[in-house]
Amino acid sequence: MPTTEPIVIVEGVTLRTRIVRKRVRNVNARLVGDELRISAPTSISENELGKIVHELAGKLVRRARAARLNASDEAPALARRVAARFPEPPPFNDLIFVTTQRARWGSYSLRTGVVRLHAALRQFPPWVLEAVVAHELAHVFHPNHSPAFWQLLHQVCPDTDRAKAFLEGVSWITQRWESLPPVERALLAER
Ligand SMILES: [Zn+2]
Repeated sequence: MPTTEPIVIVEGVTLRTRIVRKRVRNVNARLVGDELRISAPTSISENELGKIVHELAGKLVRRARAARLNASDEAPALARRVAARFPEPPPFNDLIFVTTQRARWGSYSLRTGVVRLHAALRQFPPWVLEAVVAHELAHVFHPNHSPAFWQLLHQVCPDTDRAKAFLEGVSWITQRWESLPPVERALLAER
């Protein structure tokens, strides 16, 4: 008989879980919409099962999110247009949103021609995304943040300063969100 535990929260996503105890060897999990369907051996303890489920759920949620984010060709097309604006266009093969990169907004590999972007950027206005792509590609010519780097970047992406301010604002608020007093937080959420 399946037991439905009310909810489990993984990676900030709320899931319902449905656990079926069976004569199986391993714990298996499948994500169907927002329901986590689990089959577990009869012998495993609740405690141990809870740990395994949490780990499996985290992986499934991140994988599902990344697949959905990368399903459209809009973003790679946008990045291709940005690359073409450089006086000497750097090699560009693909743009992928990743759910494994927390500290950086973007990165680029000259070897593979792949731009990787923080998954949250997918939700931001396209001109911000464009600016992050331009920033990463400009590093092909200038590895540092020298005046020559900014000059090239302004040339290929006139929105550079606005995008920089936008991203600084996002970082600022996300770093402080938890410590904001509830009233201010509520006020901000209503804007
Ligand atoms: Zn940089």
